[in-house]
Amino acid sequence: MSAPDLVTPCPSCGARNRVPRGGRGRLRCAACHADLPWLVEADDHTFDEAVVRSKLPVLVDVWAQWCGPCRAIAPVVEQLSRDMAGRLKVVKVDADRSPAVSRRHDVRAIPTLLLWRDGAEAARTVGAVPAAQLRTWVESALGAP
Ligand SMILES: [Zn+2]
Repeated sequence: MSAPDLVTPCPSCGARNRVPRGGRGRLRCAACHADLPWLVEADDHTFDEAVVRSKLPVLVDVWAQWCGPCRAIAPVVEQLSRDMAGRLKVVKVDADRSPAVSRRHDVRAIPTLLLWRDGAEAARTVGAVPAAQLRTWVESALGAP
């Protein structure tokens, strides 16, 4: 059983929207059609659905509860999901609960951030990165819109 879908209020009109893990396009408000921040969790069983099959570029945050640097970058990653709504999906993967993701994608340290585009890894960065640097890295990995 997968976890139930989350619900998020629309930043533009306040309507409450379901936040599915998968889905091929952008996440838009059902009421006003504004782009919504898209941040979900995935694990060994849902990584393909959430990341590999996404049409939107995906920032994958591989983290763990006990990892201090992971907690330091978590708010930065969440802010990116808001600032880049409609351009970027953010998927958080708990390394302890998702050993196969780390094995398959050669994640050897956390935090590791993967940038996926069109079903393949396009870039990665390892370790805690300052907020401004992380944003610049994502922007350059996404390239021109
Ligand atoms: Zn709305």
